[in-house]
Amino acid sequence: MTGHSPALALEDVSKRFGRIQAVNHLSFEVEPGQMCGFLGPNGAGKSTTLYMIPRLVRPGGGRLSVFGVDIWKDYKKAIRSVGVTVESPAFYEYLTGRKNLELAASLLDKVSPREIDQILERIGLAERQHDRVRVYSTGMKQRLGIGRAMLGRPRLLILDEPTNGMDPEGTNEVLSFLREQVRKEGLTVFVSSHLMSEIEEFCDTVLVIDQGRLVASGRVKELLKPHERIVRVTFQGRIPDGDFLSRHGEILRVEPVSGDTVEFTLARDDSAWLNQCLQQAGFTVSALAPKQKTLKEFFLSITGDKSHA
Ligand code: ATP
Repeated sequence: MTGHSPALALEDVSKRFGRIQAVNHLSFEVEPGQMCGFLGPNGAGKSTTLYMIPRLVRPGGGRLSVFGVDIWKDYKKAIRSVGVTVESPAFYEYLTGRKNLELAASLLDKVSPREIDQILERIGLAERQHDRVRVYSTGMKQRLGIGRAMLGRPRLLILDEPTNGMDPEGTNEVLSFLREQVRKEGLTVFVSSHLMSEIEEFCDTVLVIDQGRLVASGRVKELLKPHERIVRVTFQGRIPDGDFLSRHGEILRVEPVSGDTVEFTLARDDSAWLNQCLQQAGFTVSALAPKQKTLKEFFLSITGDKSHA
């Protein structure tokens, strides 16, 4: 409602399907003008959460709001700022891509043919707009789904696995396109995905859920700060043996990376300490660096190895 309201806010939201607690007292906020990734292993509750926003799923409790407007109290107003696309968007397959957009536009207020032209251009389907959707590839249908969600110039785009079934090139194209919309148009994008490397590359922030609960959130760069517990060391000459390790209980594991490089896992965040021990034991270290986490490693470290990602 105000310029200071989060684009999306969930407050203590829960949803149960019989005995399954799909969403469990979930609270978070997505700031405007960001691309925020929504991650979690299979069955974590991502789709259930996303589908509450266009009211496809009724929450068991809690509050959801878009730019300060409560979705269950004032749906018409709230949904005006939102564009949503689901995992496998459905279309009238025998109609053209353009006709599908025109039909969807007819349900909204004031979408001009010019706006449809612009969207087709933006999603890279201008050339194929007069082909029937039946002959579109998976990637083209995903892009058409995003285009449909963009009708009416929403300020918040909610996308459930928008790159599902797309090849790496198409995925890159779609995510760069969304990134561009965030940068140029100030759009907020909330996107669920299993593609952690893409989330890492394109998103500003990330929310991770597991068993319906929030387990991590923050800026991608912050979450992926190098951790000092895993340290990669390159040696000149001999490398540490079992004897060295047995004298240092704080070294939990050593794994060879290549002939002269090994990776140490430490019990504490202290690569300087490791360096000192190695020097004192007479090893020649030519390079030593805490390992940069990938989002996938971070994700697995907090959710366990349950994801198929
Ligand atoms: P995925 O990444 O596999 O799509 P997800 O994180 O989107 O998973 P959800 O689809 O939200 O997870 O499912 C969360 C839990 O709720 C799962 O255990 C799922 O089986 C269950 N669930 C979802 N929808 C229903 C439903 N309509 N009826 C019964 N159970 C459901």
